[in-house]
Order: sequence, then structure tokens, then C-alpha cells
Amino acid sequence: MAEAKVSKVDSTVSTVKLEEISDDEGQNKTRIFCQRCPSLVLSSKQAKLIKKEFFLPNMFQKNDHAPLEGVTLNDFWLVTNMMTFDNVGFSKAVDNIMYLICADCEMGPIGWHSVDNKKAYYIAVDRVKHG
Ligand SMILES: [Zn+2]
Repeated sequence: MAEAKVSKVDSTVSTVKLEEISDDEGQNKTRIFCQRCPSLVLSSKQAKLIKKEFFLPNMFQKNDHAPLEGVTLNDFWLVTNMMTFDNVGFSKAVDNIMYLICADCEMGPIGWHSVDNKKAYYIAVDRVKHG
């Protein structure tokens, strides 16, 4: 008798497999794109996978109000130099946090940056497309 396989899907767990998008050193194997348009955010091997808890509001367009609802994400690509990005936009700083948005379609946040740390830009693994 065949056993039914029940795969547990935890909604807090990333939908992408981290080992498929990062190499042995934790760098991004693939290029990183906007989820909504073909805009290239990062080339491969430019960021490092890190674990960090951070709350991001749900995606919205730049000129809309930031939704109060959001999600706490744990997996981010860390970029240490702003010049590393191929394309990225920023929202206005609120409480010293700027959201990273797509430079072309202006959807975001795809990540965040604290104005207190000029060497840390975080891209949420769940908010971008890898390939
Ligand atoms: Zn876009």
C-alpha cells in the first residue's frame, strides 16, 4: 500500500531553495531580477547570503502609501557597496531605513538599507527572481 506523502509547507519558509541560488561561499550563483519586470538588480557573485530578521511591508508602488501589513523575512542577500547594483532604486528614508525598490517599475520593497550603515544593503531573497 502506497503511503500518501504529505509535504509540509510552512508559509514562513522561503519558496526558493537557498542551496540552489548560492554557491559554497554563500554568494549568489545566478543573476537577480525584479519579480515584476525584466530589470536586472544584481549580477552573479555580487552578494552574500545572510540570515537576518527584518520586517518588510508588503510590496507596493513607490507613490502609494506603504502598507502596514507585511512579513518578517529571514533570508537576505548582503551587498556591501551601492555601486555593485546593476539597477536599484531607493525610497525616502523613514526612521533611518530606506527601502530598496526596482529602478524600472518602482515596485518594492525588494530590500532595505539603514542610513547608519553605508556598507550594508539587503535584498530579500523572497522578493526577487533568481535566474
Ligand atoms: Zn521592476
